[in-house]
Amino acid sequence: MVEAFPDIEICGFDVWHCAVPVSSRRDHGIGVVTGTVEVIVLRLTAEDGTVGFGEASPWTVFTGTPEASFAALDRYIRPLVVGQNLDQYFSIIEQARKAVVHCTEAKAALDAALLDLAGRLLEIPVWELLGGKCRDTIPLSCSIADPDFETDKKLLQRLVDDGVGIIKLKTGFKDHDFDVSRLEYIRSNHPELAIRVDYNQGLDRDQALQQVPDIAQFKPDFIEQPVRANDFHTMAELRDMLDVPLLADESVFDFDDLERAIDEAICDGVSIKIMKTGGLGRGQQVARRAAEAGLTAYGGDMFETGLAHLAGVHMIAATEEIGLGCEFYQARYFLIEDLLAEPFPIEQGKVLVPDGPGLGILPDMGQVLKFAMYGSQERAA
Ligand code: MG
Repeated sequence: MVEAFPDIEICGFDVWHCAVPVSSRRDHGIGVVTGTVEVIVLRLTAEDGTVGFGEASPWTVFTGTPEASFAALDRYIRPLVVGQNLDQYFSIIEQARKAVVHCTEAKAALDAALLDLAGRLLEIPVWELLGGKCRDTIPLSCSIADPDFETDKKLLQRLVDDGVGIIKLKTGFKDHDFDVSRLEYIRSNHPELAIRVDYNQGLDRDQALQQVPDIAQFKPDFIEQPVRANDFHTMAELRDMLDVPLLADESVFDFDDLERAIDEAICDGVSIKIMKTGGLGRGQQVARRAAEAGLTAYGGDMFETGLAHLAGVHMIAATEEIGLGCEFYQARYFLIEDLLAEPFPIEQGKVLVPDGPGLGILPDMGQVLKFAMYGSQERAA
């Protein structure tokens, strides 16, 4: 991490709660997303007028609520930032961690916005602030999660046509036969696709012990989080039982969870998300600790717009240990319109790491305001 952050005062701190329309329904093990995804957009302004953006992308059944993210930023984190100098980056991040418990999505938005602002002022990409780039592209995985599989069949063909080589099948939200029949369809109709499976905690212990070994026979790259986040015992039992790697997502947010996961041998890999760790550098550190313990790491995400995707891209670009690709598909394949001023960069099934200053692409403020339900300025008025 670069130590020399710009010596300039942060004078603007604006927050918006946006509801961004989506094109289809997504069923995951623990919940459903339909209609819109709700995200919080943070804009920091330096005294010379330069801006930096970050996004908090909570999911109520997983990390928390958008209202909590908004309040964490608007009420509790704002006083730690406005009037501070950007060269106090590390101290600001540390104070924000202490000022509000949980709310990791709000802290991720703060970190991304500070780094975007610093990168724009220094005219370097965020990945350089994170220690340098180890890859120019990141393989993209797109999730298959529509309860209407006929709709997903069309998406599968579109993905193949676009050169996307990895899909993640969301399972455990309907019944086991539905999961098996979709796997059979994908294996026989799209043998070119690599398959990952994610239950999003959808099974109880008995269901998991019966159903997951069955799914493992399809030899997916990995099977993710079949049971509840706190059911480490069943995770460990499944890991022993399977000859397919088991990934922990909801079970591992941050260092404490990771240490317990390592001690109890619950997984072969972890899904790293800035919305779980509460920051980009923190995500890097969690991935590195996982690698030390022999675990692989995957670039996960929440229901995000391209703005949060970009922050994840810079983290993965700068973190060799996150080697299983990413799932930043929503901006292209799920949202009806994105918040970014330019399309989120995907080509031939790979995310292209931006080389421009900061996060590389700014949001279109017209889009942010169009989808904003309310913002900090209206609340202050
Ligand atoms: Mg997951």
